[in-house]
Amino acid sequence: MTSTQSPTAQSRFPAGRLAFPHRDLTGIGQLERHEILYLLDQAEQWVELNRQSTKHADLLAGLTIINAFFENSTRTLLSFEIAGKRLGADVVNMHAAQSSVKKGETLIDTAITLNAMRPDAIVIRHGSSGATQLIADKVDCPVLNAGDGQHEHPTQALLDALALRHKLRERGDSGDDFTGLTITICGDILHSRVARSNILCLQAMGASVRVCAPPALMPSGIDVLGVEPLHDFDAALRNADVVMMLRLQTERMEGQFIPSAREYHHLYGLTNARLAFAAGDAIVMHPGPMNRGVEIDSDVADMLDRSIITQQVEMGVAIRMACLDILTRRVRGVEGWA
Ligand code: ASP
Repeated sequence: MTSTQSPTAQSRFPAGRLAFPHRDLTGIGQLERHEILYLLDQAEQWVELNRQSTKHADLLAGLTIINAFFENSTRTLLSFEIAGKRLGADVVNMHAAQSSVKKGETLIDTAITLNAMRPDAIVIRHGSSGATQLIADKVDCPVLNAGDGQHEHPTQALLDALALRHKLRERGDSGDDFTGLTITICGDILHSRVARSNILCLQAMGASVRVCAPPALMPSGIDVLGVEPLHDFDAALRNADVVMMLRLQTERMEGQFIPSAREYHHLYGLTNARLAFAAGDAIVMHPGPMNRGVEIDSDVADMLDRSIITQQVEMGVAIRMACLDILTRRVRGVEGWA
């Protein structure tokens, strides 16, 4: 097992270019297709390791990683923590509820404080769009965006691409090129950083993306991203190869965006009957947390052959291991990266 470059990855990025020239991972918007593929390829070794009974690599031994979470999280926080620990780093979690943020400290002062402790990487989740970049500009180590407001959630999109690639490979496809796939993302597109990061990532991988939401939850001008916006869920599902469902982000809503959860389910909930509008073997995805009976029914979420929701979570650890490994290579003086 090697943490540097797999032969497939090496052959994918243009000659003379670094596989991953960025210090930080703030968004998919900063990445080119070959960089996305490089991250996915690098994650494969960690998928394998994570399936062994002993899951330890000591690549990051002696390094300190701070997970600074200013917003709640289950999957992302745990997964970054497990990823760092499996790579041998010392991982420290900071929750906003227990931090000086509650005492009125500004984000910039918090960043300067974290930086003074000399971490080797900082993982940030924050409720404000752009917060990760603000912190990245103030600190000396790599910064990874674990979700900033409505802006981006890059590791989510990368893990989604990896989970999709695995499913496509199971079906005999290379999974390296999503050209020809129609992917429908349905839900609260307006407030979703997952939607934005996925649109950018899936398109970079070649897919055609449709987005579906009630008018109040569809950002105006979203078509500039090259997606097809639709309000009719049945039309949005027609012949879709992948259906990605999103939760209503009520914590970001000021005022009433939908009449009721029941009405929303009636119009936009993914039921078994509705899934029939999609391609016969359409793959079902959801980033979690799911609200069963609202945006997705249990019999769809739990479909063994079609739903890859659990695999998305599994791939999350591997992708975060790949990101932490790659972004700390300069700090570790890895040959060719220092
Ligand atoms: N877990 C994802 C996020 O942090 C999706 C969600 O919360 O609905 O954005």
